[in-house]
Amino acid sequence: MIPEDHPRYAALVVRERLADAMRAGIVAPEGLIAQGRGEAFDYLLGERTTASAARAEVDAAAMLLAARRPVISVNGNTAALSAHQLADLQEASGALVEVNLFHRTEERMQRITALLEEHGVDVLSGVPERLIPLSHDRALCLPDGIGAADLVLVPLEDGDRCAALRQMGKAVIAVDLNPLSRTAQTATLPVIDEVRRAVPAITAACRTMTPAAARERACGVDGKRYLKEAIAAIAARLEEMGHALE
Ligand code: ATP
Ligand code: MG
Repeated sequence: MIPEDHPRYAALVVRERLADAMRAGIVAPEGLIAQGRGEAFDYLLGERTTASAARAEVDAAAMLLAARRPVISVNGNTAALSAHQLADLQEASGALVEVNLFHRTEERMQRITALLEEHGVDVLSGVPERLIPLSHDRALCLPDGIGAADLVLVPLEDGDRCAALRQMGKAVIAVDLNPLSRTAQTATLPVIDEVRRAVPAITAACRTMTPAAARERACGVDGKRYLKEAIAAIAARLEEMGHALE
């Protein structure tokens, strides 16, 4: 049991949840390392949604509502952290949900699908094909899902796959706390925020935006600006912390 008065109680609860999800075969062992890297950047950003990320979340909602065939690509970490939030995002955005794993096994695919369905997510099924220009099983996706999508929302994605989806001509929204990762740098729109804060914010924005407003906002999305603003936010915070020691 984690003592509730521990100063890092919230982060420790999430770690315990991910470790449990790993033991249950949902999260890959490598997923725990990815979470650690994310935590480090969340620390640098102040463990809060910056004003810039909040704007990116409204842009994400606009892009989802304006897309012809948006798909949310879910991996083990996203399922373990946000399964309970994804049904609302699916409902508010009208997006399809596909399970897509870097460390792909049939067993993990089934466990993650079952977890999402328990939380009311409607998960796409079908026979995957090697449609993404990558080697090995990372190329696999559903022809009617990511294969046919014009926009893919990829929380916690790998940089390679993000670039490959862009090469296929798809727009990509990434949720990634690290503004220096290849994922954030290659995405059409990087949402530089923690996934459990980002998903409900995107859902809320979807619920209040008209289709016309979404189309207009989606045209003006500037992903580079969000990278610059996140790097500036980290730099400003580090400088402030340095000054506080003087
Ligand atoms: P890339 O392959 O894009 O260059 P990477 O190799 O550093 O990035 P991966 O291990 O492939 O990173 O993917 C994990 C990414 O997800 C990291 O960039 C990390 O910042 C981010 N991340 C991990 N946990 C979270 C979380 N809970 N919320 C948001 N982002 C997260
Ligand atoms: Mg990577």
